[in-house]
Amino acid sequence: MNRKDIVEVVNLTKKFGDFIAVKGINFKIKRGEILALLGPNGAGKTTTIKMITGLLRVSSGKILLNGEDITENSDKIKELSGYMSQKFSLYPLLTALENIEFFGGISGLKRKEIKEMKNRIKKMIPIEFLKIKVESLPPGIKQKIALFAALIPNPEILFLDEPTSGVDPEVRRNFWFEIYKLRESGKTILVSTHNLDEVEFADRVIILHKGEIILEGEPEELLIKYNKENFEEIFREVIV
Ligand code: ADP
Ligand code: MG
Repeated sequence: MNRKDIVEVVNLTKKFGDFIAVKGINFKIKRGEILALLGPNGAGKTTTIKMITGLLRVSSGKILLNGEDITENSDKIKELSGYMSQKFSLYPLLTALENIEFFGGISGLKRKEIKEMKNRIKKMIPIEFLKIKVESLPPGIKQKIALFAALIPNPEILFLDEPTSGVDPEVRRNFWFEIYKLRESGKTILVSTHNLDEVEFADRVIILHKGEIILEGEPEELLIKYNKENFEEIFREVIV
């Protein structure tokens, strides 16, 4: 494992009964990169992310964090990472401000720090949105708040599971600006998506299909290698 690699998974496998959702995959997440995990619904993206972040037990294989085997000790990765789930992990019946308070509390923030967090989000999002139950918010706003909440512990690595699903193209573009800003501030980001047109925004892409990695590389490099205009054409060629 290279010093640049922050996470490495080795033969990572997840079985649900007889069904193998993730079939012994191997990949690395490099420090400071935006890695896109692309795949259609059911490919195994969420299962993979949940195993790495310790939310789901692995069936077999290993997870290394900075070279250390943490497969049986997920507390270490929980300390270093933020996770935004596909369903946006906010409490729907609480307001955004109440969610911030809650996540700040469990992240061990002091009262003063929680207040600072609330002031920060008030500068980003109009106050009328912050005072109603999260379940009634438009998806784009909900997404912004969920990202904010995932960033509260100031994690080194961010796992964003389909953060742009269900939002319109403009919101999606804005979200990618946020992701770039996070990379500039030194964070490492794994983002999953089933949108082929988002792949080119990432530094590196892994295509997952039926629990297996079928393609991996830098977007530009893959377009040249396959001599294609876009990822939709590559996708059609590699997925049979
Ligand atoms: P993705 O996030 O790429 O859409 P998932 O990781 O959610 O895919 O799911 C991968 C496969 O594993 C799917 O076929 C899904 O139905 C199956 N799966 C996921 N979670 C469970 C579970 N708890 N029990 C049984 N099958 C599951
Ligand atoms: Mg998923």
